[in-house]
Amino acid sequence: MQAFEAMESNVRLYSRSFPTFFSQAHGSIMLTEDGRKFIDFLSGAGALNYGHNNHEIKAAMTDYLSSDAVVHGLDMATPAKLEFMETFDSVILRKRGLKYRFQFTGPTGSNAVEAALKLARKVTGRQNIISFTNGYHGLSLAALAATGNRFHRKASAASLSGVTFMPYDGYLGPYVDTAEYIRKLLLDKSSGIDSPAAILVESVQGEGGINVAHKEWLQSIQAVARDVDALFIVDDVQMGCGRTGEFFSFEFAGLLPDIVVLSKSLSGYGLPLSVLLIKEEVDAWEPGEHTGTFRGNNLALVCATAALNIYWREQTFSQGVLRIGELLRRRLEAISLKHGNSFAVRGRGMALGFDCERAEIAEATARTAFGKGLIVERCGPIDQVIKFLPALTIDSETMTQGLEIFEASLGESL
Ligand code: PMP
Repeated sequence: MQAFEAMESNVRLYSRSFPTFFSQAHGSIMLTEDGRKFIDFLSGAGALNYGHNNHEIKAAMTDYLSSDAVVHGLDMATPAKLEFMETFDSVILRKRGLKYRFQFTGPTGSNAVEAALKLARKVTGRQNIISFTNGYHGLSLAALAATGNRFHRKASAASLSGVTFMPYDGYLGPYVDTAEYIRKLLLDKSSGIDSPAAILVESVQGEGGINVAHKEWLQSIQAVARDVDALFIVDDVQMGCGRTGEFFSFEFAGLLPDIVVLSKSLSGYGLPLSVLLIKEEVDAWEPGEHTGTFRGNNLALVCATAALNIYWREQTFSQGVLRIGELLRRRLEAISLKHGNSFAVRGRGMALGFDCERAEIAEATARTAFGKGLIVERCGPIDQVIKFLPALTIDSETMTQGLEIFEASLGESL
């Protein structure tokens, strides 16, 4: 660890929360150099929905590599890219009555969010973006401007402008419909809020504390966007690719976003890959207007195609995620009940949050859990929520073991 302190920038984060040498990983298990075993409930911050080193996806990748097919080709046409688009179209989009073009952006979630905001501004000729309290969209400048967290915002000396924050669903308590408030402000020509280029929303806020928006609220927000001629953008970077049970986190609400942002688990293997799904009528780019060296890496695309073929052709995987997610939720609720119901359990599918209200409790629990062999992260405005993002492929025995460690760690931290 000392070598990392000496050589790696202070900015490093996860190696501080989980200070050990990880050398191998498979499924939901990470192994250290000295042979210790950790259960992983963090899953690469949502980038490993199908687990570490998924064997079937790896087979597709190694076949591709050993055939000397093109790995890096800028955004040239390759069979791997065509196969990805065709598979995504038939396995995901058409089955859901959706039609989108693919824009391969730079490989990170932030890269894709930047591209989405830039496109919305170009299409509408407007500057303002509506984002939400506790929203997280990445830390590069335009994405950071749409991210609520003050700790992250203050790291930027550049001005973070062009975004108006509105209260997310439930922000003002259960009895205030913030969508109505937003509608009033955006339709009122004298509210002081500039007409937006886009409304940018997560259907479940991941980093913001696993805050879940209701179906009706999301539908109202989409309707407001339509009524003010703004693009409706869903950031599905963390909650997409099956995390909430369905492939897209907004399917349950029947939304039809103008742009969908996907990243993290899209490649299925933890390789960096992001896309924007954009409606044809908003595809206003000139050729090369938003470009970059690493867009649509072919190896990542091969893995992404394999993941779609393996997990998304049938409905059984999705149903399994919902079922395991329900078990996880019930187990967390039971743990809360044992402690006088003093913890809120929130989430959808296999994205769950256990709100400790006090940051010290969450911090001590996560730290103790790590000591006992469980990797679990915190989120929320003051890092007071324990975030459960197990691999969607986790087996029930490993899940139970992880939850037992969590429960014991919580008990020791109160
Ligand atoms: N949007 C959401 C919803 C995210 O959760 C994240 C990452 N946590 C991002 C964007 C940014 O992705 P990246 O860290 O890959 O830039």
